Amino acid sequence: MDSIKNIYRIGRGPSSSHTMAPMRAAKMFLEKAGRGVSRFEVGLYGSLAATGKGHMTDTAILDVLGHVAPTEIKWFPEINLPLHPNGMTFKAFSPEEAEMCSWTVYSTGGGALADDVWDERETVRLYDRNRITDICEWCSGTGYSYWEYVEKFEDSDIWDYLNEAWKKMQDAVHRGLDTEGVIPGGLGLRRKAGEYYIKAIGYSNAVRGRGLVYSYALAVSEENACGGEIVTAPTCGSSGVLPAVLFHLKRSREFSDKKILHAMATAGLFGNVVRTNASVSGAAVGCQGEVGVACAMAAAAASQLFGGTPSQIEYAAEMGLEHHLGLTCDPVGGLVQIPCIERNAFAAARALDANTYSNFSDGRHRVSFDDVVDVMQQTGKDIPSLYKETSQGGLAKRLN
Ligand code: SF4
Repeated sequence: MDSIKNIYRIGRGPSSSHTMAPMRAAKMFLEKAGRGVSRFEVGLYGSLAATGKGHMTDTAILDVLGHVAPTEIKWFPEINLPLHPNGMTFKAFSPEEAEMCSWTVYSTGGGALADDVWDERETVRLYDRNRITDICEWCSGTGYSYWEYVEKFEDSDIWDYLNEAWKKMQDAVHRGLDTEGVIPGGLGLRRKAGEYYIKAIGYSNAVRGRGLVYSYALAVSEENACGGEIVTAPTCGSSGVLPAVLFHLKRSREFSDKKILHAMATAGLFGNVVRTNASVSGAAVGCQGEVGVACAMAAAAASQLFGGTPSQIEYAAEMGLEHHLGLTCDPVGGLVQIPCIERNAFAAARALDANTYSNFSDGRHRVSFDDVVDVMQQTGKDIPSLYKETSQGGLAKRLN
């Protein structure tokens, strides 16, 4: 497994796989192509082509290549390249129209890239275990917690990095709560976070807490939908879940930032295990890999903050993911808005439920987190492509 820093990428929304990664790929191709390019041609395939307009894939690429030379984007939604549904081909041409350089690359989820000889997720192997069962055993045998396992293998700057990510998450919550207006894209959706916040503080106790969690998740997800700066956790589309839970617990329970960072380390570890053994790409496995994994990460974080044992933390994460199994990805209009924004709010609430449920238990349960990750991967393969970030089925078809 590589660094959990790659679970928490800081950047602009609305999509880690369809915006952040294509932009990074374009920058890398620019270096490969060198000087003397008279024009670029970029082919987008499968899911990248099907929802690329709504996810602003073309804008992300043109922002990089379009400033250097004329760039043509070609769309091939009906063709999937061999390695992943999110395929791209970059070509650079000389003034004589000779092909100078070409590169086929895949956006594999959460902002990561791969081609047929290289997979970014495997270039650096920091950890000695990549299944939670083995890591939980290590914790039980040594007395350490998951976050200490992370600390043992990450570079010494990990806490500075997580601190920066935590600051960006909080900034996104504050901006989202404070901004009104219509979310761009044509669906006519208004931002709701501020209203939910105001209404929530008018209640007391449980309803207030639940309403505040909704408002924090809406705030970040609306920022993401507007192309604002967010932190993937594990993706842009699911970036509202973990900040909502952490922000709420910090405010309501006065957890220190240090404890929040430890919780982020544990959440990142669980997300990284999924990213390594299965996928966090909606185009590959549906929304179970995005919002489902975000819920698992947030459940693990909450459980740790409330003093869960390694088994209880694992159980909370397992439930966060298990009860999202089979969740489809059918974004209306190819935009990261319906059902994505609301779904983040529900998943944040569900993460807190998973924590409560797990902490009532002794941590023993039949289905392990690793089992659910394996099942999620298989379920993702079995789900038709209509429901994997192509906007050709489900809500996307109904509301078109
Ligand atoms: S439905 Fe889920 S996986 Fe699909 S774009 Fe929205 S958040 Fe991402």
